[in-house]
Amino acid sequence: MSVRVVARIRPLLKHEISSDTIVHTDSTSGESSGKSVPRPNVVRIPNPRNGAESFAFQFNSVYDQSCTQQDIFDSEVAPTVKHLFSGYDVTLFAYGVTGTGKTHTMRGGKSLAERGVIPRLLSSIYRRCRKIEKDSEGATELHVAMSYYEIYNDRVYDLFQSPDKRTAAGLPIRDNGGKTIVCGLTERPCTTLKEFEKLYDEANINRSTSATKLNAHSSRSHAILCVKLTQTTGDRTLVSTASAIDLAGSEDNRRTDNNKERMVESGSINKSLFVLAQCVEAISKKQSRIPYRESKMTRILSLGQNDGLTVMFLNLAPVRSYHLDTLSSLNFANRTK
Ligand code: ADP
Ligand code: MG
Repeated sequence: MSVRVVARIRPLLKHEISSDTIVHTDSTSGESSGKSVPRPNVVRIPNPRNGAESFAFQFNSVYDQSCTQQDIFDSEVAPTVKHLFSGYDVTLFAYGVTGTGKTHTMRGGKSLAERGVIPRLLSSIYRRCRKIEKDSEGATELHVAMSYYEIYNDRVYDLFQSPDKRTAAGLPIRDNGGKTIVCGLTERPCTTLKEFEKLYDEANINRSTSATKLNAHSSRSHAILCVKLTQTTGDRTLVSTASAIDLAGSEDNRRTDNNKERMVESGSINKSLFVLAQCVEAISKKQSRIPYRESKMTRILSLGQNDGLTVMFLNLAPVRSYHLDTLSSLNFANRTK
């Protein structure tokens, strides 16, 4: 099991053009692999109490405003596809404050260039499937299926189920032979990228309508997409899963908002993000005990329970208005190393 923590700083948005950019990138010396300009791996941010001082945080890699969706996919996600086809699970998280680019990173925009990690990952999976089918002359059969759900206030809701059919309690989870499963979760086969995109868009519409209905914002839930790959050759079957998670916003609304409902939400978001950090830390330190059972999300993902790969994107906004939240995101990610 291995884990990479990757920081991505988004560009200034239109209304921020005249704002102060306070988040900068840097590289530690000595890690240069012979390249003249090593990739940045350090994020610098001023100390909010003493502007003359700055804090530095080191990650596996750091991407600044100039990085494209293609760069992120090529450097951070494409390498995981090989592992998925070797039968290992792949888990990709986007962590950060609302407005820092989590959805942009995972789902992305409509144009080809703006497509995020998820459509690119699927496109790459299908391309590889076609190649294996061709190379094996049909001896290997490949099957792709997806499920998509959200976790809101520690309850699991199927995004393929229309919001009016949901029960408030959500779907139960159950242990089944060492694995935790969500009972009654829809799994849809999708054989082409087109088919996938149709189902994915349909489920995303359910996500926003259900958020409106609950009088909540979709930024308060974790959206978890699971893509199950089954490879069958003769009587040998290999199953692996790629999970892509657009996490709830990491901002703590308890600081600013005294609304009771927001307090409950924030409490459960904080807890699940805290457990996630503990699991990622345990994995990266190769500890034998990974506390994945402590929250529903890590339990369903069986985080750290097999030899898979995990990539955590740490999304950051470059401007001063996010200063304290950015610092707490950086501290969060720093603990996971
Ligand atoms: P989050 O999901 O974390 O709340 P979003 O992905 O919705 O944040 O991003 C907030 C805004 O910033 C959106 O308008 C999005 O299009 C824009 N944005 C985020 N990251 C980038 C980027 N790398 N390049 C261009 N625009 C971005
Ligand atoms: Mg979002």
